[in-house]
Amino acid sequence: MDARLVLREAKKGFSRIEITNNLSVGDRQLLIIGGPCAVESAEQMKQVAHTLKHAPVGAIRGGVFKPRTSPYSFQGMKEEGLRILAEIRREFGIPVVAEAMSERQLAACEEHADMLQIGSRNMQNFELLKAAGRARKPVILKRGLSATIEEFLLAAEYIMSEGNERVILCERGIRSFDPFTRNVLDLGAVVALKNLTHLPVIVDPSHAAGKSELVADLALAAIACGADGIMIECHPQPNKSVSDARQALSLEEMCALVNKARPIAEARGRVIAAPKTHATERTISRSPTSVAEPFTAA
Ligand code: PEP
Ligand code: MN
Repeated sequence: MDARLVLREAKKGFSRIEITNNLSVGDRQLLIIGGPCAVESAEQMKQVAHTLKHAPVGAIRGGVFKPRTSPYSFQGMKEEGLRILAEIRREFGIPVVAEAMSERQLAACEEHADMLQIGSRNMQNFELLKAAGRARKPVILKRGLSATIEEFLLAAEYIMSEGNERVILCERGIRSFDPFTRNVLDLGAVVALKNLTHLPVIVDPSHAAGKSELVADLALAAIACGADGIMIECHPQPNKSVSDARQALSLEEMCALVNKARPIAEARGRVIAAPKTHATERTISRSPTSVAEPFTAA
């Protein structure tokens, strides 16, 4: 593989990526991101932030530029949605994530969000990757719908090679033959990636499963197998979601999931990262030397 910067060999240990000055992911920091598929209104996002800040989650998601399969489906609130995210971030002190599909959108997201997302459909949009490499915000790079692990890592290499070292990989399920689950969550890839790269690897079981009743167990399995975080779609009224309603958890289910995740995270030597203003970061009682370090370089 013609990669230099993303591989374990390039660096000592695992990268801990700073998202804001009081939140990071990777190494021992486990990041939980929750929020709706799409920003629909300020009211909706306030309900989300109000409940999830106590979960606690580390960051809030909400798509404003939506990559929809049909051009006639809701395309997102665009700039107005970004203004809502910025308001949430200010009012609640929680970092926000937004996806960009073009260089222009990337610049707008860089201005208002704490983390940028490049979605599955753009994993090999090389100009967008290079632009993200010049951005001054961390980037969540989602695995392409049918991208190999090598293609995924090389896409991250594009971002890093332009100077941005803050890349977070996100496994979100790959295409297969059975439509029962929307995609197939590839936890084998998570384990393989942790062997290959020092970058944090998070998992989105929502787009993988496509069904809300499958999401929590897959999220817990992801943490159990060594993921550095999870990204979950949830909504104040899941069945009213304008997009991806079938996979959305309720806010109560999301809070319950964070509680179930805690002991599993701790068993894997992780702490659930949350902005320190909420005084919610828990420290584990084990000494750092006994923290599970199960991965060996491939
Ligand atoms: C999303 O996270 O909103 C999204 C569109 O996901 P993906 O790119 O994985 O399909
Ligand atoms: Mn979605």
